[in-house]
Amino acid sequence: MPQFIGKPPYRCSLCGQLGAREAHGEHGIICEECYKKQAPICDFCSVVNPTWEYDCNTFVTKEMEGYRFVNEWLACDVCHEFIEDDDYNGLLKFSMAEYRRNHPNPKATDRLERLLMEKVGEIHNLFRKNRIGSCKLIGGQVK
Ligand SMILES: [Zn+2]
Ligand SMILES: [Zn+2]
Repeated sequence: MPQFIGKPPYRCSLCGQLGAREAHGEHGIICEECYKKQAPICDFCSVVNPTWEYDCNTFVTKEMEGYRFVNEWLACDVCHEFIEDDDYNGLLKFSMAEYRRNHPNPKATDRLERLLMEKVGEIHNLFRKNRIGSCKLIGGQVK
């Protein structure tokens, strides 16, 4: 999952506390306390209540300055299938489509969308390189 580590420190978009680090799809950057109260979201497509958990080494990328990506990564059933099939092209298309469905931007141009897709693709690529071991079901429940 992404964490904000850049400067200046952000205020939590929910409670206003300074030094918020957790990136949450819907609320932007929020503090750890508020983050714990939110329903978990898929780190790939932002759908709520993902079912799978992946271990991954921490990484940073110049594609997203001010952020680092830390353990662990959560995935919904759909994104999990793409990851297990090693279909990162499918994963990228699906997560971008979901993102736009939930965050419509009438001003987005084809060029901006392509740039965003490149950034997200690079993050997925680094996840692929840095993930450790196999995935597990969250809470250990059987599918
Ligand atoms: Zn807060
Ligand atoms: Zn997902």
